[in-house]
Amino acid sequence: MYGLLMRLVIALIHTSLVRGTFSRVSLKHTHFLRNYTSLMMEKETLCEPLKKSMSEWQFSELKLLQLPLDEIKENYVRRNVQNAVFSEVSPTPLREGLKLVAYSKDALVNILDMDPSITETQEFVEFIAGARVLDSSIPLAHRYGGHQFGVWAMQLGDGRAHLLGEYINRKGEHWELQLKGSGMTPYSRSGDGRAVLRSSIREFLCSEAMYYLGIPTSRAAAVVVSRDPVERDQFYNGFPQQERAAIVLRLAPSWFRFGSLEILARQHEIETLRQLVDYIIQEHYPYIEGKNKYLRLFAEVAHKTVDLAVMWQCVGFTHGVLNTDNMSLLNVTIDYGPFGFVEAYHPRFVPNSSDGEGRYCYSKQIEVVLWNLEKLVQALSPLLEEVDRGELLEIYYSLEGYANFKLSQGFRRKLGLTKDMPGDMQLVDKLLRLMELTETDFTMVFRQLGEVSLEELVDPEATKGLWALEKLQSHKDFEDFVMAYSMRITAETELTETIRRENMARVNPRYVLRNWMAQSAIARAEKDDFSEVALLLHVLSNPYVRQEEAERNGYASPPPGWAKTIRVSCSS
Ligand code: AMP
Ligand code: MG
Repeated sequence: MYGLLMRLVIALIHTSLVRGTFSRVSLKHTHFLRNYTSLMMEKETLCEPLKKSMSEWQFSELKLLQLPLDEIKENYVRRNVQNAVFSEVSPTPLREGLKLVAYSKDALVNILDMDPSITETQEFVEFIAGARVLDSSIPLAHRYGGHQFGVWAMQLGDGRAHLLGEYINRKGEHWELQLKGSGMTPYSRSGDGRAVLRSSIREFLCSEAMYYLGIPTSRAAAVVVSRDPVERDQFYNGFPQQERAAIVLRLAPSWFRFGSLEILARQHEIETLRQLVDYIIQEHYPYIEGKNKYLRLFAEVAHKTVDLAVMWQCVGFTHGVLNTDNMSLLNVTIDYGPFGFVEAYHPRFVPNSSDGEGRYCYSKQIEVVLWNLEKLVQALSPLLEEVDRGELLEIYYSLEGYANFKLSQGFRRKLGLTKDMPGDMQLVDKLLRLMELTETDFTMVFRQLGEVSLEELVDPEATKGLWALEKLQSHKDFEDFVMAYSMRITAETELTETIRRENMARVNPRYVLRNWMAQSAIARAEKDDFSEVALLLHVLSNPYVRQEEAERNGYASPPPGWAKTIRVSCSS
């Protein structure tokens, strides 16, 4: 039916083109017809069945091949690859005892057009394990550099990841598929090219959890584990242990990072730098064109990166390793490692046990992101004339004010307030200070503040069982905060209690991926019981809605005592 309609519409357009009847009216008409046609085509492709086997599924054309490829094709570690954006290199498959740990139904169906039943096939498991490279795939490892912990670290690159190809799905979205943990590449430096099960589960769960929180992020489609042994000194204390190698299939609109440009600028490969930046603009920011395109690209990336960091702050997410090689040029959260969500509130919460100085602590993330953006300014500078460089810096210097505004807006929303009013940030600071003094849980304070009325807030009977509020109430300054909060609410005349509470329930999640939750699922998964990984994915797919199973599992309860002993490091 659609096919017939579409052919009719195309024939109509064709006839008007051939006849040259392009009056203003027929142009308008054609515009309508064109929209109609694309709608129909979209509908038609959306009706195509989901792929049930890997033999039916294939990558789209690999546009990335327009970019300079490393001339050396042998796969051995090289500290200084030159004049290339990618090296062609195949994954080293996982071999022994492959098992599918988890998959994201949403990522499979809505991104990859795969039927969930595909996960039952051996081909799918082998595909994730790097053992089945499709004919349509040209695996690549990307060359990038980066500033790690404030120091230029020179060449880094995909040391254990393979970009398998690009996929344009039936909605017309462009996605790049990457295996992580899939073996050595020219960029492996002293690493083994592998990833362990615990870090793979953490990346899988957190990518998907962030997506459902509404935060731009790379996605994770599936995880496979093997019996292939890898050695890791998890706590860097001289006691390496044998662990099992795993691979995550992860997805992003693009995997380019700040460090992708930094390496080219540092190595004075300016033509390649220009080629890469032009490519990124053309493919991912097509609305940016003209003389000022590099400035506009920076402005766009910078503002969206700040927006992203503000979103992290608003859910208490702390990335843990905000090196410039972990900063996406497409403004999505990437490279989940020793991240953590703030629990007992402390501004200097540091999830990464390897970050002794707290460079990447919770409250410094925006500052650090601005520092990283300065490195992006430096990487783009060789492409600019002197006068434009001045303008680039002007944009850069305006970012701090922008970040403060967005942060206050984000936290204002967390308090259910809708209008921008003077003194809002002081109110937020008052609350954060109270939370710090009482060591109250970041997630649950905001959630529970929206679960009771203002009168109930100061009534211990009414707040019984609301454990985060109970803690907050124990402080002498609590009533003072409630007073200030009530006055601020009354300043917004249309803001009823119902609206305030509804607003708060929409932006303050009830469930986030706490490290103890991930840890508990990992402990079971180590024994081949993957049920808790699936349960967590299920719960975290709906983080703003109360779920009985989640409540029974204590996901909205005070964290268990052992949660405090969990340490996560860069070892993965
Ligand atoms: P990350 O801390 O995961 O962002 O990684 C930083 C850099 O180290 C990247 O270039 C990674 O590819 C590389 N890397 C991390 N772990 C390994 C590993 N086991 N083998 C090879 N390269 C690795
Ligand atoms: Mg990284």
